[in-house]
Amino acid sequence: MKFGGTSVADQPAIERLIALVRAERQAEAQKEGGDARGPVVVVSALSGVTDRLLGLAALAASGDVEGARASLQDLRARHVKVSEVIRDAALREPVLDSLNRAFDELERVVSALAVLQEVSGRWMDALAATGEILSSQIVAAALTSHKLLATYVDARKAVVTDAEHMAAAPLFEETTAALMAHADPPLAVGRIPVLGGFVGATAGGITTTLGRGGSDYSAAIVGACLGAAEIQIWTDVDGMLTADPRIVKNPQVVPHLSFAEASELAYFGAKVLHPSTIQPAVSRNIPVRILNSHRAQARGTLITGERPKADRPLTAVASKKGVTVVNITSTRMLMAHGFLRRLFEVFERFKTSVDVVTTSEVTVSVTIDDARRLPAIVEGLSGFAQVDREDHMAIVCVVGDGLHEDAALAAQVLASVGDVPMRMLSQAASRRNITFVIRESDLPTALGRIHDKFLAAVSAA
Ligand code: ADP
Ligand code: ASP
Ligand code: MG
Repeated sequence: MKFGGTSVADQPAIERLIALVRAERQAEAQKEGGDARGPVVVVSALSGVTDRLLGLAALAASGDVEGARASLQDLRARHVKVSEVIRDAALREPVLDSLNRAFDELERVVSALAVLQEVSGRWMDALAATGEILSSQIVAAALTSHKLLATYVDARKAVVTDAEHMAAAPLFEETTAALMAHADPPLAVGRIPVLGGFVGATAGGITTTLGRGGSDYSAAIVGACLGAAEIQIWTDVDGMLTADPRIVKNPQVVPHLSFAEASELAYFGAKVLHPSTIQPAVSRNIPVRILNSHRAQARGTLITGERPKADRPLTAVASKKGVTVVNITSTRMLMAHGFLRRLFEVFERFKTSVDVVTTSEVTVSVTIDDARRLPAIVEGLSGFAQVDREDHMAIVCVVGDGLHEDAALAAQVLASVGDVPMRMLSQAASRRNITFVIRESDLPTALGRIHDKFLAAVSAA
């Protein structure tokens, strides 16, 4: 059971979490032949804390030590307050001690960063990981004080990753062994292991993080490595919705998704699921459920290998803002073999991943969502191509089996977007999705039109 930031935001949220874990345990105990072990609980930092911790790094590095200290004081007070959810003083005291030690340490880090005036990925990870390390200690003690015996498991010991700071990849064999050593023993004696998501460490013990939103990924890794029956993602919406609720009014819950559809939607911006979440679930064929911790009675979204045929042709539309389009033009491309290899090698060299690609005779257009290294990439490409960039763009990805089954549907979807100018357009060979790029400012219009026409009405029935 993974609980996101808003599901551990404050004392009432953690009390809801406790009720959900209790209900899960009771349901499991009542199942005939049910394995009464578990669940394993994975938690995010309290909502907003990761942003604040990363903001601290920026404040400190810009020399605003006072600002950074004030922010730390707020954070400390908030964690102390939330710890009141641990009813039993004997359980609360050690958590408060640990919390205060962590904040003392952060104060020292802030002072050091102000001197260095530069923050490496390694420092960023040390700062950012604190959010989950603290929330998991609070939740473990809170469960125990509510008579659900839990064991805090340090994610830095249980999830082993490579050394790619801020976007570390888990090493599955090592992580399985570590989880067997740290999370399995409490499970075996009927306790509930609680660990922070998002966080791991290299084999040498250096703290890493899995990238923003990475707690979902942690939950899937833990579920796959321990052979869970199900991976539950508890969040603040009723499930995977037909569109981003921050952009489209009244999106509907999608009751059932295939792994492939969920991956596609997550990859192209459905924030409710980290893009890597599905991959560990696929490897062990473990169902994933997205559920609302504020409304446990809602059915949520079930994600499995196959799904029953849906009653409408499109499943959902995902979108991603803050994208940069890079147009690479070279007259030498014409019929030159090896051109694409040379081109993508430059992106590889500067560790920038490319999402959507389209080509014409002399131009290759790609999208990237991390444009920090673009000046160096442009320089690298300058020997054989001209490059221009368009910022503030957005990717729209429409997913549905109907695109495969009905040859006319893709054209109808594109027509529904009307006069919104499209920069790039691509349809994969699987034909279960179409992806296109528009200006960020056109996103509400384009999504609204697609949603009204293909996704809104049917499920109201
Ligand atoms: P958590 O902290 O629980 O991980 P997130 O904020 O990371 O929660 O993800 C949940 C949010 O994802 C929702 O509140 C919603 O605004 C956003 N979201 C974007 N697209 C979708 C979608 N297609 N379905 C559901 N939620 C979406
Ligand atoms: N707390 C981390 C973040 O905000 C990870 C997560 O919540 O999934 O990115
Ligand atoms: Mg999230």
